[in-house]
Amino acid sequence: PLVLGIETSCDETGIGIVRGRTLLSNTIASSMDEHARYGGVVPEVAARAHLEEMQPAIERALAEAQVRLEDLDAVAVTSGPGLAGALMVGIGAAKGLAVSLGKPLYAVNHLVGHIAADILTPDSVPLEYPTIALLVSGGHTSLLHVRDLTTDVELLGETVDDAAGEAFDKVARILGLPYPGGPEIDRAAVGGDPAAIRFPRGLSRASDLEKHRYDFSFSGLKTAVARWIEREQAAGSEIPVADVAASFREAVVDVLVTKALAACADRGVPRLLLGGGVIANRRLREVALARAAEVGATVRIPPLSLCTDNGAMIAGLAAELIASGRQPSTLAFGADSTLPVTEIQVAEDRAS
Ligand code: ATP
Ligand code: MG
Ligand code: FE
Repeated sequence: PLVLGIETSCDETGIGIVRGRTLLSNTIASSMDEHARYGGVVPEVAARAHLEEMQPAIERALAEAQVRLEDLDAVAVTSGPGLAGALMVGIGAAKGLAVSLGKPLYAVNHLVGHIAADILTPDSVPLEYPTIALLVSGGHTSLLHVRDLTTDVELLGETVDDAAGEAFDKVARILGLPYPGGPEIDRAAVGGDPAAIRFPRGLSRASDLEKHRYDFSFSGLKTAVARWIEREQAAGSEIPVADVAASFREAVVDVLVTKALAACADRGVPRLLLGGGVIANRRLREVALARAAEVGATVRIPPLSLCTDNGAMIAGLAAELIASGRQPSTLAFGADSTLPVTEIQVAEDRAS
């Protein structure tokens, strides 16, 4: 099916068009520049930007895909999780489009969309089930057992405080680096020694592992970095920014990869799928690939343009739902800022 997907859960207005598993276009307009001076995404600024970007983004996506609105078989939209006001703009646009075109509407889960990005990866061998998925973004850090993208996504664990991307953003701020912090820390870490400072690995002690085997915590790590810097400054020492950045990054990457591979081993699933904007981190990809190889597990990493928020993954997930015979959503759904990852589609019309 030819599907147009609309994604507005955060600061990216993403419009993507797919035909089945083939990606036709993926346009993204980000309001990041407007948020940068506030040091984080401002919800109302994001919502207003979506409103302005929506129409031009849809037109660009159609032009790039060389299709017309009338050609579409369905419209898809992110219904959550995310910023409520931002989500509402996309949902309003999607409902209007579906009703005016007389086409079915699929309201889908943003987090499962991040996993669906994998199936749009050009020239890749088809995704094999089950797979363990590690989703790391600005708002989420989740470990999933995916038996089927359209029917069965189990949440194994998630962060109990900050998301991994959020930790990068906060530590960057502590180091005086600009927002968003992920790429800045990556750059600052060049030439740094990842073993220079032993920062804590959250929820990794034997006593933590009983209850939180697959959960993450990055807030203690952030505080540890802040305290370490304060102590050095109090002692009049120069802050070795490259070493701090490299050591912090190593702590995050170590715990992410260790827990993901533990899930693979426990579940007897030697397959790991990575998703979310933090996958841009070079060290994370490197360590994941190396350690997975040691234990005979495979790692799938979609191209970066499909890892950060985008509309194509939303369209791709809807195309999978359609292919598996699922009914469209009714129009009776709103924005759910805390939609759990286990709810793959919302408001499916079970009556029809
Ligand atoms: P969510 O999907 O949970 O709603 P989001 O849309 O904000 O959140 P993404 O766009 O997937 O998340 O990712 C953005 C995050 O990725 C930011 O926190 C940013 O700092 C982080 N990030 C980007 N590049 C890197 C990098 N090279 N290393 C680490 N983190 C990075
Ligand atoms: Mg974003
Ligand atoms: Fe996202």
